[in-house]
Amino acid sequence: MKKISIVVPCYNEKEALPIFYNEVIPYLTPEYFWNLILVDDGSKDTTLDIMRSLAEQDSRIKFVSFSRNFGKEAAMYAGLEAAVRLDSDMAIIMDVDLQDPPSMISELLAAYDEGYKLIFTKHVNRKESWFKKFCVKSFYRIYAFLTHDNSMKQGGRDFSLLDRKVIEAFLSIKDHERFTKGIYHFVGFKQKCIEFDYQSRRAGKTKWSFKKLFSYAMLGIREFSEVITWVPVLLSFLFGGIFVYDVIAGAIGRWLTWPVIRDDLFRFLAFVCLSFITKLIYEVRNQCQHRPIYIESESNIETDQKRD
Ligand code: UDP
Ligand code: MG
Repeated sequence: MKKISIVVPCYNEKEALPIFYNEVIPYLTPEYFWNLILVDDGSKDTTLDIMRSLAEQDSRIKFVSFSRNFGKEAAMYAGLEAAVRLDSDMAIIMDVDLQDPPSMISELLAAYDEGYKLIFTKHVNRKESWFKKFCVKSFYRIYAFLTHDNSMKQGGRDFSLLDRKVIEAFLSIKDHERFTKGIYHFVGFKQKCIEFDYQSRRAGKTKWSFKKLFSYAMLGIREFSEVITWVPVLLSFLFGGIFVYDVIAGAIGRWLTWPVIRDDLFRFLAFVCLSFITKLIYEVRNQCQHRPIYIESESNIETDQKRD
């Protein structure tokens, strides 16, 4: 019998977790051996207590709790590591707020039976503010242009099914700052995208502020495109151009108070250039430090737990 782990990252989800549990259970059909791996990403509410009590009443529930909030990417990584510890044949990653409908599990499994190794999903008909829709659409267009990765298109979700081989490939990527959607493209394998209608969060609040989403989008572009290496180069050319112009058209420049404009422009561009270089050095430093992606504080999974 194939063993499937459903990996569920949770951060301050005391309202959503019990609803999720009740809704997902009917879809855990007896043809498979199921585990629900709940990852508590350092919640400050009673999420961990709910996990403990669910685990007491249902032996299929496994949980991993972090020492602090490490972010959803780290939670997905930990959940997939736990799936390997539990010797799972495949894993399904789902959000706890029911924006990823459990009714789609059978569709994911049907695609798996057709031979796909990585089945990911995307929203259609987003029901969000025009501003958020505009930002999301623009991001995916820019991302696809810069990384040549058209697989995600607009609206890609983390809701996905991964074969064991894909899980192992995913875990072998030790990026400290992780962007799962880009990693999916990087690992390859036979992939399929399934579209579904936008679902609203059923309980609790989103944990992603606009600032968090923006820096996540920037992370994706930095990690999977070469744009960060072009920026200082392009800016250096611009500096050179300004210098040449200044030398050739110095007289006219002075008349237009060019030296003043030029100095300000130089300062601004030097700042942009330096901030890119600093960010790059910071990320290289982070990666070289070999810090763990997450730190576990509690779990009900034994280190050498195997197929029951
Ligand atoms: N999440 C997490 N750690 C975080 C933020 C979010 O594990 O630091 C989880 C959250 O509990 C949920 C999923 O990631 O299960 C998606 O988060 P959310 O619904 O807030 O994001 P949105 O759907 O609004 O993009
Ligand atoms: Mg959500």
